[in-house]
Amino acid sequence: MTFSIHGLAVARGIAIGRAVLVASSRMDVAHYFIDPSQVSSEIDRVRSGRNAVVEEIQRLQTSITHMGPKEAPHELAALLDVHLMLLKDEELVSGVKHWITDRLYNAEWALTTQLEVIARQFDEMEDEYLRERKADLEQITEKVLRAMKGVASVIAPPTRSVRNKTQQDLLLDDTVDVPLILVAHDLSPTDMLQFKKSVFAGFITDVGGKTSHTAIVARSLDIPAVVGARLSSQLIRQDDWVIIDGDAGVVVVDPSPIILAEYGFKQRQGELERGRLSRLLHTPAVTMDGHKIELLANIEMPEDALSAVKAGAVGVGLFRSEFLFMGRQGKLPNEEEQYQAYKRAIEGMQGLPVTIRTVDIGADKPLDKSLKDEAHMNPALGLRAIRWSLADPAMFLTQLRAILRAAVHGQTNLLIPMLVHASEIRHTMALIDHARVELDNRGVAYGPVKIGAMIEIPAAALTLKVFLKYFDFLSIGTNDLIQYTLAIDRADESVAHLYDPMHPAVLRLVAGTIAECNTQGKHVSVCGEMAGDVTLTRLLLGMGLRSFSMHPAQILAVKQEVLRADVGKLTAWAEQVLSDDEPGLRAMRH
Ligand code: PEP
Ligand code: MG
Repeated sequence: MTFSIHGLAVARGIAIGRAVLVASSRMDVAHYFIDPSQVSSEIDRVRSGRNAVVEEIQRLQTSITHMGPKEAPHELAALLDVHLMLLKDEELVSGVKHWITDRLYNAEWALTTQLEVIARQFDEMEDEYLRERKADLEQITEKVLRAMKGVASVIAPPTRSVRNKTQQDLLLDDTVDVPLILVAHDLSPTDMLQFKKSVFAGFITDVGGKTSHTAIVARSLDIPAVVGARLSSQLIRQDDWVIIDGDAGVVVVDPSPIILAEYGFKQRQGELERGRLSRLLHTPAVTMDGHKIELLANIEMPEDALSAVKAGAVGVGLFRSEFLFMGRQGKLPNEEEQYQAYKRAIEGMQGLPVTIRTVDIGADKPLDKSLKDEAHMNPALGLRAIRWSLADPAMFLTQLRAILRAAVHGQTNLLIPMLVHASEIRHTMALIDHARVELDNRGVAYGPVKIGAMIEIPAAALTLKVFLKYFDFLSIGTNDLIQYTLAIDRADESVAHLYDPMHPAVLRLVAGTIAECNTQGKHVSVCGEMAGDVTLTRLLLGMGLRSFSMHPAQILAVKQEVLRADVGKLTAWAEQVLSDDEPGLRAMRH
């Protein structure tokens, strides 16, 4: 039966494919397709893992038969029996074989997929005792996965392109070679990074806001995605056909042929539109009345520099360096590793400038997802970004030295996130000087950098004088500026409808910052998601913005808006929008 789920649109386009439900993040496993010739060896891998666990349990059973009821209570023996029974369950075995043989999933993926199928049946059971056996199933699956680690496949995972399958292809071809849509309760920003190497054509999560970091990374992947689609991971079943409408934020499950045809048409239209936009690649971004506009890229990893250049970016306006620090079990990258990463990004930009933001860990970007900050009531208001860096000067100095050294290889800007106090600015500047002194003492070469601050806290936007005194440039982080101005958690889908870039308070802070910088002759850009939103391009131009930084995939669409804009006319209109009580209404009518 066809039904739809409404969530938040985070990454545009249509994806049509089969659902892959991922198990809890505790069981994070590699997802890749195997070659048909590997089917039997993958099945063997699961079998040996399972046999190892069966043997372990049987050994335990033998040993407890010699113990008294105190050391080995009756419940323990019963539990082991249950575990053995689950391991030998025909449904688990045949399901895993199916995913490996018919879908060519690697062994770990097949096992966790089948776990999801069975876990769902447990959830639906009336009997509470049986329902609780789901936890046992998860435990034994984890054990098998652990046992399998010793016999990992040595063959490199083959890559498969699933991106450009059209609806027509799908109707003709219902074999293993169909796009896959990942469905999860939640995904961390680091999970998202793994996606860059993965096979999924789109994803859906139950939770998350439009500018949560998970959504931001999704946008950088340029695959259709919907977040905040509550209950989707419970309503969608493994292998269901699903459509993601990333423009509308809608998920259609089990679509009828007519709906499938309609979305197939939309999908082709989207591809034609992309083709049309690609013609603008070499066109300079100049407005109709001759204003030159700088379109920069936001990147998360050094390797993204390539897509930035390919998309026609004239530099990197925001390199979120924290992604180098995340998902490493808390083991931070040393100076050399960071230096090499920054150098790769700088060299990748082939002479174009690169703005490296110092680490912004905290809130929805924990160092590790297992280290999620649950100890503090409001992590977004806590030890985040520059506060975290200043609290650990040795870590911060390591990063500063690495960036300064990398600056030898090309034009580099250093950007500091989340500053708000003059004392923090002075402290930061002193540490930058100190990093230079340390490099001098070691006789290591370093390059010149321009130093900028992010304006992403309302208090910073209201006290620009001190920022203009110390910094060479400013960059407006609208994602956090909106969050902190409106007191809306950017990662919480339950208040996502109130997260409004067009709120007059937000617009006034953004416009005021741009105007003050323009008056003082300081370079200013916007690097939050507002910069890549084509519905806001003209308003920002009208406010006097001349530098936009966004995900590479958004650059051409924004360029198209720039080419059609007449700044002379937009300035007066923007002033009217700014003086409105409800600016969204006027902007919509324009
Ligand atoms: C912002 O806050 O707008 C920004 C660009 O930084 P981040 O999204 O990484 O917090
Ligand atoms: Mg920010």
